[in-house]
Parts: sequence; structure tokens; C-alpha cells
Amino acid sequence: METNITYTFSEDNSFLISTPNIITIIGNGFLELIGYSKDEIINKSLSEVFTNLLRIPQEIFEQIDIKESIDCYIFTKSLEAREVVISSFQGKDAKNKTYLVVEKPNTRLDEKIIFVEQLFKDNTKGVAIYSVPNLVLLKANQMFLDFKETPFNNKEYIIGKSLREIVKGFKGSEVEVIWDSILETQKGWGLKEFRYDNYSRGITYWDSTLTPIFENGKMKYIFQTSIEVTEMVLNKRKLEEQNKIIQEQKEQLEAILENMIEGVTVRDKCGNMILINATAKKIMDMADANKNAGDVIYGNSFTDLDGVPISSDKIPMVRALKGETVKNHKLIFKQPDKESIMEINATPIYLNNELIMAVACSHDITESVRNQRIIENQQERMLQVQIEKEKNEALKKAIEMKDEFLSLISHEFKTPITVINSAIQAMEFICKDELSHKAKGYLKKIQQNSLRQLRLVNNILDITRISSGHFRINKNNHDITFITKAIVKSIYLYTQQKGIYLAVSSKMEKKVIGLDEEKYERILLNLLSNAIKFTPIGKRILITISSRKGFVCIKVKDEGIGIPKDKQAIIFERFGQVDSSLSRQAEGSGIGLSLVKMLVESMGGSVSVKSKVGIGSTFTVLLPNIKTIESFQEKNLEALSDNRLIQATAIEFSDIYL
Ligand code: ADP
Repeated sequence: METNITYTFSEDNSFLISTPNIITIIGNGFLELIGYSKDEIINKSLSEVFTNLLRIPQEIFEQIDIKESIDCYIFTKSLEAREVVISSFQGKDAKNKTYLVVEKPNTRLDEKIIFVEQLFKDNTKGVAIYSVPNLVLLKANQMFLDFKETPFNNKEYIIGKSLREIVKGFKGSEVEVIWDSILETQKGWGLKEFRYDNYSRGITYWDSTLTPIFENGKMKYIFQTSIEVTEMVLNKRKLEEQNKIIQEQKEQLEAILENMIEGVTVRDKCGNMILINATAKKIMDMADANKNAGDVIYGNSFTDLDGVPISSDKIPMVRALKGETVKNHKLIFKQPDKESIMEINATPIYLNNELIMAVACSHDITESVRNQRIIENQQERMLQVQIEKEKNEALKKAIEMKDEFLSLISHEFKTPITVINSAIQAMEFICKDELSHKAKGYLKKIQQNSLRQLRLVNNILDITRISSGHFRINKNNHDITFITKAIVKSIYLYTQQKGIYLAVSSKMEKKVIGLDEEKYERILLNLLSNAIKFTPIGKRILITISSRKGFVCIKVKDEGIGIPKDKQAIIFERFGQVDSSLSRQAEGSGIGLSLVKMLVESMGGSVSVKSKVGIGSTFTVLLPNIKTIESFQEKNLEALSDNRLIQATAIEFSDIYL
């Protein structure tokens, strides 16, 4: 390039002269421009001074000698950029070459772009200016350097270098695309959280602006501001992640809350509902859910488990809102259409020592309480059954013990009574003529009462024997018609004496069945003695024998005083006398009929009574119409009228006073 400036080379001019490559003469103006001393320049090679000290790029330096003049930036010793024109001249001596280095007027950055200068000074952002189009770093503040990594954080190293050298991994990067686009479009860029991966410290994020600066309509510089926002971005990311986790947890919590079988409600400190899950909604009707905690009571009523109403200030939620922790409070929640038993826990929640809300968790325990009650009732019943069983066993044992005792005592009684009886009989027989009429009367009384004693003892012994299973039935085949008639015949005397009409009739002339003759005798005599006892003079007693569906039926019908309906069942029980006033009409112990029942049943039969007070009673004995398969030996008919029957009748009729 031809220079049109004519210079007079005085010492003060900005020039330097070099013999081939070595600088030999320097103008003061040049030293002033670059800020180096003469000693730092003299005798140095041209390339060292231009490229190393003044930081002219190698490719530009190579053009200095080719072109007559060249525009470029040099950098002073204090690393200030100076825009200069370098012209080269051939000296007279062909060996010498003169280089004129002239600063372009009004090109100093600090004077030209004052607003930028302020940013450099503030040092609140990394700030740098690059030349256009070479993108040489002309100026950078300390913060810009601080953002760089070694060796780029050294001003000495970085100033004067092009962007390609400064930015690691520039070639083919997004950074290159952006800068190229600025050069091409001449429009600035604002980068937000721009990710840069090439620092050895790892991924970094940047907020940057890249602003073209124009001069005479031409883009002259690109101004860059940068601030590292890595920490902020990472924090933001972390925050976002945390938010995401919190959100997820919130959703999980909400899902859990929604699906819980417990009803959960949260109310703020004023009692207004903040949260209510699905179960709680089901428990409460929504009109109540929307009400203030303290007002809910008016819609529905709460009572304790005994049905006593609970006032509004005693509701768990209201108590929790007053700072109380309520545990397992059971209450009944009454609604118009239903009643539920609830178990409620309620807790106040504090933030910085201040109560901000309260949570209540309600569990519908209606079902479990009901089940519990059912179980308790069942247990109660089982316990009662058990107690009853134990009582019965104890009673059974007591009866057994009593029976044993009775049996023992009866045995002890029987021997002396038998002796007394024999003695009386002996006296009657041997001393018949020696006894006075009065003595005979006393003897008769002694005999009758000893027979009564014997009857009682025999009855007790038989009953205890049957109860303990030691009773024997000796069945033989007998004609029951004959036996019955014989027994009835044996008591004619008694009825005649008492003035009672006695008859026996049978539809069967002969009926042979398996029978314990002695036991049958006891049965019939017992029934007959009762009939005589309770039948007044002039009335009738009728004995009938018939056959009825597999049974032989013996009826003893009287026209006596009769037995009240409600007493008919108890007379077959042991000591079951109808009442003391009745029984007092005739002596008796109240065990005769129970023995009759036992004897009849032990022979496979049954006994029953039909009676009307004032009209009379009918006792019906049914005995199986079966012959015994044991030995078939009909008893000698005579045998029945022997002493034994007389004796048995005397005993059975001993309590009939004629
Ligand atoms: P007891 O040994 O005292 O006669 P029973 O067991 O033979 O006892 O009779 C029980 C009670 O039944 C009698 O005390 C009497 O009240 C009533 N009873 C029994 N047979 C008759 C009857 N034929 N007529 C009226 N009452 C009777």
C-alpha cells in the first residue's frame, strides 16, 4: 500500500532502522509509542520486536516487507492496543531498511469507547474487546482473565492473541458458529446459560453478550461481556430436581392420602379446611367439610361410646387446634342416616414455635367394635356355659355323694328295722295270748311304723341303686293279667276297711310278657297305695289291663282328690310331693312315684298321669309286650299269694292308716 504521508526522519519520529534483520537505530517517537526502552529494542531482530514484543501476528509481519504499508495492531509494553500503519522504506544503503510505525489518529480504545471503559474498570463482569475481522483480543479486564484457565488467565499471554487461539476447541464448535454469524450478519448475540465443555474443570455455564461496535458504518470491534453462572445453573438444576422430587413425593403422598382407609383432614389455625382425603369426605358430608372445625358439631352430633353428647370444644380437631395432642379418642359420629364409631388421633403442627395447623386422622371402627362385642358376647356365653357345666358336674357329684351317703345310711337303718320287724312278728306269734289288747295296739303301731321305715329305706336303696347303675332287672315270662289281679286281690282288705270300692278288669284273659315280677309288684302297690291314700271313702278305684301298640297298658284310675295340672310333672321327680298340705293328708316321703318311674323305665316301659282336681287321677303304665328270650318258666301261680306278697303289701301300705 502506498503511503501518502511524507516524513522527515528526525530523531523524534516513530521509526526504526534495521540492517538486515537487526535493529540498529530507533526513533524516540517509536519508543514513546510502544513504551519500551531503547535497550529493550536495540540490537534485537526485527521479527522478535514485531512479533514477540509488539505481538503482530506472524502472517501480518510477513507482509510488512512485501507491502509498502500495512494496517495492524501493535501492543505497548503495558499491553495497550495501538492501531498503526507500518510502512517500510529501502535505505540508501541497500543493507538498511527503515520502518515507519505511525499510530492512526483517534483510534485509542480508552478514548474512543468511553462507556466500555467504565465496564472494564467496574470489573463486575468479564469484559473484552476483539478486533474485526481477525478477532484479536485487544483488551480484557481482570475478571475476564480470571474466568480463563492457565495460561490464558495471564494477560501477558493472551492479549494480542486471536479468538481461535484463546478459546479451546474453537474449531467446529458452537462458539465458532456464533462468532462467524456475528461477522456475517453484523448482529449481536445474547447468550443465556451457555454451556461450555472445554475447560479442564469440567462443564461451565455462561451468560454472555457479544456486541458489534461500528465505526463509519463498518463493524470495527466486537465487545464481549461474560459472567460465569455455573453455580447458579447447577443450583437451579438442583433446585429443579429437588422440586421434581418434592412434586413426586407430594403426588405419592397425595395418592397415599387418597387411598388411605383412614380419613385425614388438615385445618389451618383458624379451623378452615386445607386438606381432606377421599375417606374423610366419605365420613363427613361435604357441607360439614366446608364448615369451620368448631361449627361442624351443629351439623352432626358427636357422643361418647355411652351416648353422652360431646361439646364442640371437646372434638379432637378443635382440641388439636388449641395445641393438644389427642390419641385414640373413640366417639360416635351421628349423622341423619347413619351412626359410626370413630377412633381419632389429632396433632397440632408448629412452625417456628407457632401453631399453624392441625391434622386429624379418623378411623371408622364401627365394624371392628361390633365384631369385638360379638366376640365378647360369645366369650361371655361360652364362659356361662362352662360355669353351668361346672355347676352341673359339681351338682352331679354332690348328688352322687348324697346317694352314696343315703345308700350307706339306708343300709345301716335296714338291719335294725328288719330285726325290730322280726321281733314284733315273733312277739305276735309267740306271746299272742300274753299280750293285753292295749299292748297289741302299741305293737301294731310299732310294726306299722317299722314297716314304713323299711319301705322308705327300700325305696331309697332302690333309687340310689338305679342311679348308680347297680340295679338288676330279672325278667321272666309271666302272665301279667294274673299277677295284676293277684296284687289287687291282696289289698282288698285295705280298701274294704277304708270304704273304697276297688275293681280290676282285663280285656285279655291271659297275657304273658317278660316281666320282673317283684319290680312290677312294687310299681302297682305304689300306685294303689297312693290311690287309696288320696281317695275318700265311698269313691272308686279301677284297675284295667289292656293291650296297646306293642305295649301292655295297666291303668290305675281313682276318684280321689286329683293333682293340679302344674304339679303333674314334678310328682315323678324325687321328693316331688304336690304340696305339704296335700301330702299331709297322708304320710309319705315323695319318692314313691320317682321309684315307680325308674322301675317302669328300667323295664323298657313308661308311666304317665292324667288328673283333674276334685275328679280323680289316672296313672297309666305301659310295659313292652315282649316275651323275654331268657328261660321261659311261668311261675307257680301259688307263689304269688305267698308271704312275700303279703309282706310286700304290708310294707308298701305301711303309711296307710286305717
Ligand atoms: P309319697 O311316697 O309321699 O306317696 P309319691 O311319690 O308316691 O310320694 O307321691 C307324690 C305325691 O303325688 C303325693 O304326695 C301326692 O301329693 C301326689 N299323688 C300321688 N298319687 C296321687 C293320687 N292318686 N291322687 C292324688 N295325689 C296323688
